[in-house]
Amino acid sequence: MSWILAIPAFLSLAALTSCVSSEAAAPDPATAASAPANAAPEVVAVEEVAPAPAPTPVAVMNTRFSYSGELTQGGYIRGLAPDGTVQASLGENTLDIAEDGTFFAAFDRDSGGSIALTATLETGQLVREQLTISPREWQIQRVNIARRPGGSSAAFRARRQPELDAIWDARQMETGATGWTQDFIWPVKGRISGLFGRQRIYRGEPGGYHSGIDIAPGNGVPYVAPADGVVVLARSGFSLEGGLVIIDHGGGLNSAFLHSSRIVVEEGQTVRQGQHIGNVGSTGRATGPHLHWSLKWHLARLDPLLFVGPMN
Ligand SMILES: [Zn+2]
Repeated sequence: MSWILAIPAFLSLAALTSCVSSEAAAPDPATAASAPANAAPEVVAVEEVAPAPAPTPVAVMNTRFSYSGELTQGGYIRGLAPDGTVQASLGENTLDIAEDGTFFAAFDRDSGGSIALTATLETGQLVREQLTISPREWQIQRVNIARRPGGSSAAFRARRQPELDAIWDARQMETGATGWTQDFIWPVKGRISGLFGRQRIYRGEPGGYHSGIDIAPGNGVPYVAPADGVVVLARSGFSLEGGLVIIDHGGGLNSAFLHSSRIVVEEGQTVRQGQHIGNVGSTGRATGPHLHWSLKWHLARLDPLLFVGPMN
């Protein structure tokens, strides 16, 4: 699978950039010190030990976007914006450009075939690149039963709204975390009991799709942060999610962990990749103990498998 190879390629991006810079910084022969041909030998020796003037840096302009990653539904890229970028976006989403010009961007599960990556430079110039997003074959199950009729009760909606508001507010928080630059690890290993994107079609009527990946290692098993971040929500008792932890990884990317039997972190806390954040459970709406892990970039829902690769 090509995406496994594509992810580490990002790490070489910075190296590639610095290679370009160091080539550019090579001494310019036109400005390098040279002794007059007719000078006395001892004068030449003095000139040789004197510090050479700093080479004149030659600016190499990075005029285009560069990136690596999987251009597919539920996938993501990490890249470098053109020099002088003051504002950049992918489709409708504004990109969070780090000081060194790097960024994260991702493609929703239902992303269309083409999406524009654009940057406005300080010169006012617009750099635009059209990305082609490949479709995925989602696990679709056609069932000959009607979709659950009717909506939820007024009592449920009254309880649910503040929960949805809390989740929305948490996901809007910008903490400056840099976990998005890391290679993600599995929060816990175990049997995969549900893939991202799976969907049921009820007599032709599509139901909602599965928004994360389900891992079932057993009740009470600890799970960890898949990448660095800041805890933006850590509360038990959500009607559907049960014990819920949301971690902001920065760059617009965040993880949610559902159905926890125990939560060991607090809101506002900084966590490191691999740090224990909670324990697997079956709280909220769950048919058995499992960890539901979902990843979102702004409103785009992403496939966690594309971040961690197959479990081994
Ligand atoms: Zn799930």
